[in-house]
Amino acid sequence: SIAYVNGAYTPLEDARVSILDRGFLFADGVYEVAAVIDGRLIDNEAHLARLERSLAELRLESPVTMAEMVEIERALVTRNGITEGLVYLQVTRGAADRDFSFPRGVRPTLVAFAQKKNILASPAAQTGVKVITVPDLRWSRRDIKSVALLAQVLAKQAATEAGCQEAWMVDADGFVTEGSSSTAFIITRAGVIVTRPNSSAILPGCTRRAVMALAAEQRLSVEERAFSVDEAKAAAEAFLTSASNLVLPVVEIDGSPIGAGVPGDSAKRLRALYLDFARATAV
Ligand code: PLP
Repeated sequence: SIAYVNGAYTPLEDARVSILDRGFLFADGVYEVAAVIDGRLIDNEAHLARLERSLAELRLESPVTMAEMVEIERALVTRNGITEGLVYLQVTRGAADRDFSFPRGVRPTLVAFAQKKNILASPAAQTGVKVITVPDLRWSRRDIKSVALLAQVLAKQAATEAGCQEAWMVDADGFVTEGSSSTAFIITRAGVIVTRPNSSAILPGCTRRAVMALAAEQRLSVEERAFSVDEAKAAAEAFLTSASNLVLPVVEIDGSPIGAGVPGDSAKRLRALYLDFARATAV
């Protein structure tokens, strides 16, 4: 496949950055992931807006404009013949002698690649996913989509080893923050969709935002508040959202079945609504 590194399209196996790159040494960088469906980018404006925000929070300057960023994303979709999958973008502070302070006069590194992935016909959408809960070990600026993902790597590995597909991370007060790579939602027995409000405790999910707007349009009741693991286990339904998984029903939390232990009707409906939105906004 073809990747992009600092202005050049190159076969993935030849794509290289320096071992002095600050992304590698310090995780000093940010990233974005947008889904591709029918060969088009889904909700991409939201992803690029979040990328700009993440960059600004780290005082990182993108080496290309956001208009150029879209051109790179589209070029990767086309050159790799992606009809369904994702595009990954990463900006790091660049390569310089190892020193914690920002280097002067160094151009940030921009790398990007595209991957094929089954999104529409994902088996997980049919069966639902199982999640475990783990303590949230991350730093306190989780609103920045930084490449420092060690806590999420360990959380997802724990989920995999438990035969689950996602780990919901839990704060010191027993409330769910979010999934290792997704936003967490429950639907109470009274039919209220609950998800944690955006703050520095979670990443502001693009899919979260779209799904909440769609739910509001449908006059479903939505509450932004923290929920505990116990409340989640007692919920009528649960689901997660992310760019490359859209909306996925959650059928089990720490071994407890949610509702009837099968994908819930509301989660399935929200997935269908999001898919319509995704197709309508694709570029
Ligand atoms: N929360 C975390 C920690 C994530 O890594 C992600 C995305 O991968 C999300 C939430 C979902 O965000 P989005 O819907 O923008 O993909």
